[in-house]
Amino acid sequence: MDSKEYQVCTNCIMDTTDPDITFDERGWCDYCRNFYENILPDWHTDERGEKELEKIVQKIKRYGKNRDHDCLIGISGGVDSSYVALIAKEKLGLRPLLYHVDAGWNSQVSVNNIQRLIEGLGLDLVTEVIDWQEMKDLQLSFFKAQLANIDIPQDLAFFSSLYNFAIKHKFKYILTGANYSTECVREPNEWGAYYPTDMRFVKDVHNHFGKIPLKTFPTSNIFTYKLYYRYIKGIQVVRPLNYVPYIKEDVKKVLIDRFGWQSYAQKHHESRFTRFVECYWLPKKFGYERRKAHLSSLVLTNQMTREEALLKVAAPELDEQTMIQDFEYVAKKLDLTVEELQKLFDGENKSYRDYKNNMTLINLGTKVMNLLGLEKRVVR
Ligand SMILES: [Zn+2]
Repeated sequence: MDSKEYQVCTNCIMDTTDPDITFDERGWCDYCRNFYENILPDWHTDERGEKELEKIVQKIKRYGKNRDHDCLIGISGGVDSSYVALIAKEKLGLRPLLYHVDAGWNSQVSVNNIQRLIEGLGLDLVTEVIDWQEMKDLQLSFFKAQLANIDIPQDLAFFSSLYNFAIKHKFKYILTGANYSTECVREPNEWGAYYPTDMRFVKDVHNHFGKIPLKTFPTSNIFTYKLYYRYIKGIQVVRPLNYVPYIKEDVKKVLIDRFGWQSYAQKHHESRFTRFVECYWLPKKFGYERRKAHLSSLVLTNQMTREEALLKVAAPELDEQTMIQDFEYVAKKLDLTVEELQKLFDGENKSYRDYKNNMTLINLGTKVMNLLGLEKRVVR
């Protein structure tokens, strides 16, 4: 990143803290252009979407006819996945098995939310608990590596555990809460959203800084799941929220009314670790505000005005006291003193580019996916 002048998009709130952002003569960024040109024309949440979804649902039901469950839903306790579970059961008439990965950082709110949801919907839940010593060792490795991407171990565990379970128990359909409505602007890799399943990268970081071998930690390689799982094993990922109207605030109200569900202040705060990453580590150490991507998504999908988003992002996400508490909590949980965590925080920032990785190959794959229309968002 050279001395590019600061610029913020005149249509959303993405800005030059994404080093690769470009603007047109109107001052609109490439996320906005991509949204109007590539995502919106193909995104139907009316009858057309309903019909498309119904076709998929019929296939899922046929596949699941003689099984206890016809599909798998990864559940975090957050809005998106909770709503997928609700829709799957009540709107689509599916018989999902809910799958939760406990990586050691669940907030009490998320634990309660999951419990209320399964009771309220009468669904079955499987929980995999990740070995805490291994989790801690991998997380500490990422801290020591001075990376923005410190939530990779958690994401890797969530993702791999779900996929590996699907393969083992012959689930063909995985329903996820991924959606355009709240995620059409993807967080740039540079802001810590780099691929958790780039195992070359994860292994290199762990080889440098890890202390114990990862024996049970669930892993899956990006190429394995994009190719082998998808095309040989035939696993299909369905994103139901892209076929129905999905207005986040309305959905929160539904979940609160129906299940006594509790809201989080921000996206992804079902994990205390993620809250620390997004409210402390990224903005304070790296100057990256992931809220800019989250709020821009809401602006583009008319769930918030640009002015509201700018106001929100101008104020810190959490009050100082809560941030200090989170800092102490994270240190304690990772067996660090506050001073040791502070030392890591003060270290020289690195990027995923400073470690071995498969980025070139993944970028090539993403280009192919873009060309085939399988990935419509700007990914970088
Ligand atoms: Zn924009």
